[in-house]
Amino acid sequence: MRPIIPDYLAEVLGDVESDTSGAPAEYIPELAAAEPERLGAAFAMLGGEIYGAGDIDIEFTIQSISKPFAYALALSDRGFSPVLAKVGVEPSGEAFNEISLDSKTGRPLNPMINAGAITVHSLTGAEDLTPAERVERALQGLSAFAGRQLRIDEAVCASEMENAHRNLAIAHMLRSHDVLTEDPGSVVDGYVRQCSVLVTTRDLAMMAATLANRGKNPLSGEQVVSEAVVRQVLSVMFSCGMYDAAGDWATQVGIPAKSGVAGGLIGALPGQLGIATFSPRLDGHGNSVRGVSLFERFSSDMGLHVMEVPAASRAIVRSNHVVGHGPEALRVLQLQGGIGFAGAERIVQEAESISPSDIRVALDLTRVHSIDDVARRMLLEVARRLTLNGHDVYLVDPESVIPDPKPGDGGRVTLLDDVNRAASHTATVGGGQTG
Ligand code: GLN
Repeated sequence: MRPIIPDYLAEVLGDVESDTSGAPAEYIPELAAAEPERLGAAFAMLGGEIYGAGDIDIEFTIQSISKPFAYALALSDRGFSPVLAKVGVEPSGEAFNEISLDSKTGRPLNPMINAGAITVHSLTGAEDLTPAERVERALQGLSAFAGRQLRIDEAVCASEMENAHRNLAIAHMLRSHDVLTEDPGSVVDGYVRQCSVLVTTRDLAMMAATLANRGKNPLSGEQVVSEAVVRQVLSVMFSCGMYDAAGDWATQVGIPAKSGVAGGLIGALPGQLGIATFSPRLDGHGNSVRGVSLFERFSSDMGLHVMEVPAASRAIVRSNHVVGHGPEALRVLQLQGGIGFAGAERIVQEAESISPSDIRVALDLTRVHSIDDVARRMLLEVARRLTLNGHDVYLVDPESVIPDPKPGDGGRVTLLDDVNRAASHTATVGGGQTG
């Protein structure tokens, strides 16, 4: 069988190939010389598979796509408070290189525009690092996200530094407001080095997949940053990742994303996959023209918009019936699927309607494949309240979907592997503890 996903990717690349609008970034001479026809797209799945088509192994500089990852490293290395005290999380609606600070707080508006990203670079690694050690920390951190050792393109770096007047102006402004406390020149130099790290489309897809996978690189298995850091980073990517096109992007594509002026573009879909595209011609916002088209296609073809309302899931309460007669009678709530808050609410309603005369009640989780934290707590509370109302409660949980169930004060459950065993079971175990 021909592989389905690479065929699909090749087909979509074919559809956008003829669009030659836009131009490679010109303010960095080395980037202006990029081969404009390059085109590639890759999907990295959370199981570690990578699917791609086109130029997915050509290296180019990461540029602004380093910003969310550097932000993740700073949050990880310094903690949230010191970073949030210096860089906000509000969309700016401005170009990436705007010389601007929040008029009220005096901080850069967010970590995705240059003012914020230059500040964030100064916050990566421990406080007492030298500028060279800070660059090394950023390089190693980006490498951990990619799952391979990355390196810096010295030519692109030198080329950008020769023309870094605007970023230097931003850094001096930051220094004058004490947002930066170090030498503005060395911080810009470090930031430009961070932007000059070479990556392939394949690397970028894997870096995005690491964010989609709660901070754990799907290939190396390394937990690069914590889940709390990932949530912060994805939120900021969603609202600010595409600069002054962030609103259009959020409505039309709806995937937390980040672009770079070398033509890369990434999207991270929480719990699903990392996506990366590469095409050097940029639009007026500094986003890859064909990259934006590719993401629009991916999002609509595959329903990847994060605000897409999921297909109605099968009813969580599969059945509510009684087996057996007389004192042996057992009321069984047979549950199914993945249970979150809304599903647990259905179970609560069902449990509230159980008659006091149905003494023995079983919550059958045999067909439940997952249960999130709030739903688990709600289910145990259901068990506790049923016990307090005089019921004998059985939890049928052969796969240990709820490991070590403790219904808490006054609650009591008997744990069983098979609902048929509950039908004949009489003795309950516990008494305020687990059964
Ligand atoms: N190094 C570039 C700059 O600071 C990154 C910009 C970008 O990719 N949008 O100008």
